Amino acid sequence: MVKEQLREVQSRVKEACLRAGRDPKEVTLIAVSKTKPVAMIQEAYEEGVRDFGENKVQEIVEKKAAMEDDIRWHMIGHLQRNKVKQVIDKAVLIHSVDSIRLAEQIQEEAEKKDLDVDILLEVNVAREESKYGFMLEEVLDAALAISKLSRVHIRGLMTIAPFVENSEENRKVFKKLFEFYVDMKSKNIDNVSMDVLSMGMSGDYEVAIEEGATMVRVGTSIFGSR
Ligand SMILES: *Cc1c(COP(=O)(O)O)cnc(C)c1O
Repeated sequence: MVKEQLREVQSRVKEACLRAGRDPKEVTLIAVSKTKPVAMIQEAYEEGVRDFGENKVQEIVEKKAAMEDDIRWHMIGHLQRNKVKQVIDKAVLIHSVDSIRLAEQIQEEAEKKDLDVDILLEVNVAREESKYGFMLEEVLDAALAISKLSRVHIRGLMTIAPFVENSEENRKVFKKLFEFYVDMKSKNIDNVSMDVLSMGMSGDYEVAIEEGATMVRVGTSIFGSR
């Protein structure tokens, strides 16, 4: 079942790229395997998937130990400062950096482990009270502060769009973040690159791709409901 659903998502990703005149190689599909067993991850792995997303540090630790070494694990959920040291040597990218204090903690642990850590800044584009992330107007100052941390490398931005009935309702959210991302890129801040735009989930990844996402995080449409 995972195989069929995965293929469906992969072909929709490709079609969305073509509609938008984009090269499908520009978009990475992250299979969000949170709460799902290793057997299902294995099925996606056998289909060639190497990027998996998890929202809990404990699950990354356990699944990484159980799975092949060439998997790239993405930390996509809210990260507590006391969990940083467990995850920085296991995740290739932390999508959910939502405070300067968290970035400082990553710097501290990265120094101890002699690591460089790639992160995205999470942005609460739609200003939802229930969501983590920087407000758009806070992102530039946060990026400037975090850029001073030698072991922490901002690679781009991430957002979790509102839950909506019709994915078209989120187009404006994705457009807004894409415009901001292009603007941030043009500032050429030292130690900040803007090559990753992580946006789009099961309900709206096609719209996100049309609006410029370079990574989409898809769980339910591949692995079924949780
Ligand atoms: C769970 C989750 C996803 C995937 O959501 P689906 O709707 O199941 O595709 C994507 N991003 C984040 C941050 C998540 O926590």
